[in-house]
Parts: sequence; structure tokens; C-alpha cells
Amino acid sequence: SIAYLNGQLLPIEEAKVPALDRGFLFGDGVYEVIPVYAGRLFRFKQHIARLENSLQGIRLPMEQTLQDWANICHQLIEQNSLNNASIYLQITRGAYPERNHDFPANPSPTIFAMITALPEVQAVPSDRDLQGISVITAEDIRWQRCDIKAITLLANCMLKQQALECGANDTILVRGGVAFEATSSNLFIVRDGVIITPPLSEHLLPGITRDFLLWLAEQHGILTEQRLIPEHELLQADEIWLTSSTKEIRPVTRLNDVTIGNGTAGPVWRQMYDHYQQLKVQLYRG
Ligand code: PLP
Repeated sequence: SIAYLNGQLLPIEEAKVPALDRGFLFGDGVYEVIPVYAGRLFRFKQHIARLENSLQGIRLPMEQTLQDWANICHQLIEQNSLNNASIYLQITRGAYPERNHDFPANPSPTIFAMITALPEVQAVPSDRDLQGISVITAEDIRWQRCDIKAITLLANCMLKQQALECGANDTILVRGGVAFEATSSNLFIVRDGVIITPPLSEHLLPGITRDFLLWLAEQHGILTEQRLIPEHELLQADEIWLTSSTKEIRPVTRLNDVTIGNGTAGPVWRQMYDHYQQLKVQLYRG
């Protein structure tokens, strides 16, 4: 595929970054993942607003406007002729002659972007969707600024790997007995028809899909609540979902080897699935 690196479009295999880049040496950078449906950027303003918050969070000033970021993304969509895709956009603090923790006085950031295909709109959920996924819970060993979408994902990788080695698909992260999110998605539960998700804090990423689902639920008169979810409450939930831009809404049907609900995707999930897909179809119709 064709990628973008510092102003150039080139085959991804040829996109090379110096070993002295602070992204490589320190994990000093931030990123975004932006979905594309019907060749159009989905929730683009929200993704770029979060990117700007992440950049501010690591104190890396950038001059790019919304239009500049859109141009990079549109070039990738066109060059790779993709209609349904996700764009990965990463910015690091750049490469300097020496490895030095101090921030450079005049940073020259590295901007990299690539695109990968996403599946077509599915009007009806697949058997795999309905079956849901299996998760474990584990103590959140990440840092105290999980609201920044930093590229420093070692803890997330370790926590995800822990799930795979337990024969599960993902890990719900718990701090002091409270569940916040999963390794690359936000957490929702459903109780008595109410959709519940933890409030925004430094312990979770302000998910664009999280925000979108809260809005979508409101549009359809489904009650929502933002409050802390104690770990023990997960087992009492009628439904558990994990959400992200690429996974959309993923039902969780097993938690630490205990069945959630009746072991398949629940009715509120199904409703929200339909609303989500309908919205995507509308994008195709223009
Ligand atoms: N939480 C974490 C830790 C993530 O990495 C992600 C996205 O990859 C999310 C939540 C979901 O965010 P979004 O809905 O913006 O994709």
C-alpha cells in the first residue's frame, strides 16, 4: 500500500524513519486511528480534536490545520482506492543527533500515516459477531495519562497477550477494584435497559466511538449513564460491550470463564448495531 511520511507518498515498505527518532527511542509520540466509510472520513473533526489534545498533552506544538490533516488522509484514500478503511496517523517528536531525554527546543516532528482496508457495511451481524468475545480482567499496569493517545503501548500489548495466553480475546483493565476500559477499546455495560460507561478521566481514552454511542443511544431514546463500574458489577451486567473505531461495538459473552447474559450478543447490542450500520449506509447514499 501507499503510505505518507513527512510530506511524501511512498510504498509502505520504503517508509523509513531514523533510528534516532524519539518515537523509536522513547515512545515519544501520539497517534490516531480514523475510520473511512464510503470513501469519507468518519467523525474526522472529533478525531483531530483528540489528536490536538494528545499533542497538547505531550507538549508538542504543531501548525497543521484540520484541512492539512484531511489532505494527508484523502491522499491515502485516493492512492490506495479504498472505500472502507482505517487510517493510522502517528506523530513523534522527531529525530535529533543525540539520545537525550530533554525535549528539543525547536522540534521537527515525524509525521507518518498508513491505511488498511475495513470490511464492507454488514446490514446483518455475522455469527461471529453474535457469538461475542471472551475477556479476562487484570490490574491496569499502565500510566496515569491514559487520556493521551500515546504510542507507548507496551503495557497494553502485555495485557492483551495475557488474555490470549488464557484462551480469551481481550482484557478489561481494573484499578483499585474499578473497571475502566480494555486494552484498545472502551467499556460499556447494560443493566435493565440502561447503557452504562465510565466517565472520562485520566484512566481511559476518550473514545470517539464511546462518544458516538452515547449520542446514538440518546437519539433513539435509550437511557445512558456515565459512572464508575466496580469490577464485581461486570458479572451482574445483562450485556458487556467493548467499543472502538475499528471494532465498532463488540459484545462480550464470557468474563473470566463465566457466561454473560445468555452467552450471545444481547438485545440492546443488536439495537445499537442496527443504528450504527444504518448510519453508515446513509453515508453511502450521500
Ligand atoms: N481505549 C483504548 C486504550 C484505545 O486504544 C482505543 C482505540 O483504539 C479506544 C479506547 C477506543 O477509541 P476510539 O473509539 O476512538 O477508537
